[in-house]
Amino acid sequence: MLSREERRRRRPQNIELSDTALTVVWGDGGRNDYDLETLRRRCPCAGCGELRGEPHGPELVAGNSLPMLTSEAAAATSEARGFDPVGRYGIRLTWADGHDTGIYTFEFLRKLSAEADD
Ligand SMILES: [Zn+2]
Repeated sequence: MLSREERRRRRPQNIELSDTALTVVWGDGGRNDYDLETLRRRCPCAGCGELRGEPHGPELVAGNSLPMLTSEAAAATSEARGFDPVGRYGIRLTWADGHDTGIYTFEFLRKLSAEADD
């Protein structure tokens, strides 16, 4: 179990959206800039996962067409319109094309920044 203090440090203190990046300042003072294009390409919703050929969920049955990056996924806008908090664990980004089903948990964002540090 994480202490209340630890949970606070792992949550964002501040989140800002610019034209090209989402900036998160964490409770522990750390700061990460997330490229919006990366966030869009990594959209965690099931629909985008399928477009990227990362099928999951029971709706995918054998015999479906081969997964590939469709032009739809490749052409997806990386312009964000805004974001809303989701509970205390993440945010939902709304993209310029109206796509808003991806919930970016803070856990996911922390992992993304860890990958970028490698
Ligand atoms: Zn998505």
